[in-house]
Amino acid sequence: MLKNILSRIAYSTNHINVLKPAAITFDLTDRCPLRCKTCGKWVSKGERQELDTQAWKTVISSLRQWLGNYRVCLSGGEPFIREDIFDIISFAHKQGVYVSAVSSGYPIDEAMAKKIADSGISGLSITLNGITPATHDFTRGVEGSHARALRAIELLNTSKKNMFVCVETVLMENNQREIPDVIEFTKEKRLNGISFQALYNKTSFLPYDYNHHFQEENAWHLNSPLWPKDYHKMHSTIDEIIGYKKKGYLIGNSVESLAWMKRYFQDPNELLAVKCMVGLSNFSIDPYGETRLCFNMDPIGNVLQQTPKQIWRGKKAVQQRKAVKGCKNTCRILMCNSTA
Ligand code: SF4
Ligand code: SF4
Repeated sequence: MLKNILSRIAYSTNHINVLKPAAITFDLTDRCPLRCKTCGKWVSKGERQELDTQAWKTVISSLRQWLGNYRVCLSGGEPFIREDIFDIISFAHKQGVYVSAVSSGYPIDEAMAKKIADSGISGLSITLNGITPATHDFTRGVEGSHARALRAIELLNTSKKNMFVCVETVLMENNQREIPDVIEFTKEKRLNGISFQALYNKTSFLPYDYNHHFQEENAWHLNSPLWPKDYHKMHSTIDEIIGYKKKGYLIGNSVESLAWMKRYFQDPNELLAVKCMVGLSNFSIDPYGETRLCFNMDPIGNVLQQTPKQIWRGKKAVQQRKAVKGCKNTCRILMCNSTA
């Protein structure tokens, strides 16, 4: 707690040298077999050379040297389509790094579930956007993706050792009526919890090999068919989630962040009252080594040319922290951007 308060003071007074990143993400690939309506990663042509196994191992080691034991989340794209994924996880695990990952579950068959259980990974989140195949498959853009997600959850549940298996769900118009059933499902399967993300602009989740430049985008929801048509209904859904949490169900979001989600779905600009904290804690490395504090802004360096510590303390990072403090976007609602 005290450490948290001191970090925030150091951040707001620009004494960044005393800070270190706490939310580290390796986006291992832009490639993905799904076609989600909430994400544009899959438009990647996969033509740009991704960091190879050795380059990721070098990154893992230099972060270990700088930070000691640290936590990293492996993401993408779909991280489990990389052939060297288990080599990367095992290497990090042997160095004492706490590794978690997010996946659609799509590529996880029986053999892969066993490898995941043996890899040393600490936790895995599978996205489940609905209890019915129709809802989940619609949002994910590929028929059969619901069956594959359920298969992954079953297999991981059977083969897991000390690993946490959780569910992540994006809240939107199309799935709000199914949320209680999804929560009950996580309890019935004895999973380690469920976390909710609020719907955000799909064009913020483009592949990093795409020519995408930062822009303010606070009116996107007006044209999104996935945005709740009646915010009162979404408020009721979120109140139900809070009710489950109070009854002891394993809901990963804080009550405070769920309350912010209600305000966001009523009017996204309400979020501007909350500071975006990505400059304080985030350190996100993309498939090509480009590194960012904010996933939407330009890179502050590349791990092929500098060490993570040099990047974190470099001039571009200082400039980006200023830009973050003045940013008027509302993707601070996303859990990885530390709203509450
Ligand atoms: S949200 Fe995840 S599973 Fe869906 S297209 Fe994007 S990277 Fe793939
Ligand atoms: S709100 Fe935060 S995460 Fe979103 S674009 Fe602005 S600085 Fe980046």
